[in-house]
Amino acid sequence: MSNNKTAKTLKSFMREEIQAYNSVLDLVGNTPLIKLQNITKNLKGNFFAKVEAFNPGHSSKDRIALYILEQAEKKGILKPGDTIIETTSGNTGFSIAMVSVIKGYECILAVSSKSSPDKIDMLRTMGAKVYVCPANVSADDPRSYYEVAKRLHKEVKGSVYINQYFNELNIDAHYHSTGPEIWNQTKGQITHLVACSGTGGTISGTAKYLKEQNPNIEVLGVDAFGSVLKSFHETREFDKDEIYPYRIEGLGKNLIPSATDFDAIDEFVKVTDQESAHTARELAKSEGLFVGYTSGAAVQAVKQYAEAGKFDENSNIVVILPDHGSRYMSKIYNDQWMEDQGFFDTVQEENPKKIEYVK
Ligand code: PMP
Repeated sequence: MSNNKTAKTLKSFMREEIQAYNSVLDLVGNTPLIKLQNITKNLKGNFFAKVEAFNPGHSSKDRIALYILEQAEKKGILKPGDTIIETTSGNTGFSIAMVSVIKGYECILAVSSKSSPDKIDMLRTMGAKVYVCPANVSADDPRSYYEVAKRLHKEVKGSVYINQYFNELNIDAHYHSTGPEIWNQTKGQITHLVACSGTGGTISGTAKYLKEQNPNIEVLGVDAFGSVLKSFHETREFDKDEIYPYRIEGLGKNLIPSATDFDAIDEFVKVTDQESAHTARELAKSEGLFVGYTSGAAVQAVKQYAEAGKFDENSNIVVILPDHGSRYMSKIYNDQWMEDQGFFDTVQEENPKKIEYVK
């Protein structure tokens, strides 16, 4: 009692400490787990969303950008003023640009001319130098964004090429953050993980950590129709006939990334562009979660796994929602775009186009 009193008295003589983070980088990771209340109510099991939009760059890619650059610093590969190179206009590019601002690196992103002007503007806003490369050339053409990135990496002294599809550190980043967070948040009671696979870093690193804690945890992957990942997982053969264009960005692939540990994944399911888009819109309306296209894909996969009888009343399912909805305003959250894709042809939503103008 008297000790407490002394502590209190001393404190009153000191200035209160200002509560502030040193930079946005202190907020990377430790994203919340949110119980799904409505969208899964007719399914057996307890469903929890790991909402990666709470990262400061609004996606799970903050984790790999920060981790990979810090590993390069530890190994003495990177010094302030050096240059980071990557080939993406998506979430990874944005996260690398954000981390580069705080750490004082130059950031060069070689992107495809297919990237929307909005995306290119976002990257430039974050201080990145953007090379827009023609989309309609083969990967080995010197003008392709792969080749431009490789050339710049050779030319720019002290540059680091992240190459997320073939970088082991992509897996390690999630092994050291996403995996332990989910294990601790669920107090070890997780039974199933559902996660999208693009580079495969998220699902592989998280799965590796969780299975080391409890090998019975089932890891369920999400793939897109038009991608080779599911068939490669099942046959270990690359089937180019599986490949065709699809709408969902960031999910599935037309090559086999070495950042995917196929042995850590138990099963894949494929989801359609249309159902994933409607499920993303349903997440906003039923859970108040404004998340990206692949988040819709992940919850669509949850529904399909549930319908296939994967879960029972005692299952604790964690589904990773990779990014924020704001990046998809001109796509899945735009009714005209939805209509143009034919996504309202067979599925009706309640008043999808209704806006009331008050005069
Ligand atoms: N969703 C989105 C929106 C993404 O950008 C990505 C990354 N390509 C993924 C899911 C898949 O994550 P990963 O690359 O770790 O497999």
